[in-house]
Amino acid sequence: MKISLYDISKNPTKGIEFSRKIEISELGALASVGIVDVKDVLVTGSLVDLDSQYVLKFTCTVEMTQVCSRCLKEYSLKENYEVDSMISQDEADINGIIAEDGIVDIAKVIVDEILASKSMKSLCSEDCQGLCSGCGADLNVEECECEEDDIDPRFAGLLDLLK
Ligand SMILES: [Zn+2]
Ligand SMILES: [Zn+2]
Repeated sequence: MKISLYDISKNPTKGIEFSRKIEISELGALASVGIVDVKDVLVTGSLVDLDSQYVLKFTCTVEMTQVCSRCLKEYSLKENYEVDSMISQDEADINGIIAEDGIVDIAKVIVDEILASKSMKSLCSEDCQGLCSGCGADLNVEECECEEDDIDPRFAGLLDLLK
């Protein structure tokens, strides 16, 4: 979903309101944070031209499936995102959302919000026990026979990557 700043300025009310569905296909790049599926997102908001200062506001709820970084199981979660930001056409501007060639890509803004909120580890629950570094057993569902110092180096390496 893309909005042109030119269209906003041309509009007699100097702004538009929108309520649209974003398709999953517009939400790439989320796999890097362990998100394997996203339901279509409904986004509601406005983009307004205040004296050549563009302001984007919207809210959306995203239902997604993510992989737990401790036990590697998929779990679903629902999160709300709220954006209230200036639009900048200067790519060097770090404070605003950048509109390349005067186009604001709402799907990209949502993806950036999700990525920013996922900088922390994703866990299926706060007290997820994770996988045994010795045998790979899911310690949430079973106990294993491993001793602390009986760690298969292949698993230890894998688990280090997930820390
Ligand atoms: Zn887990
Ligand atoms: Zn074990």
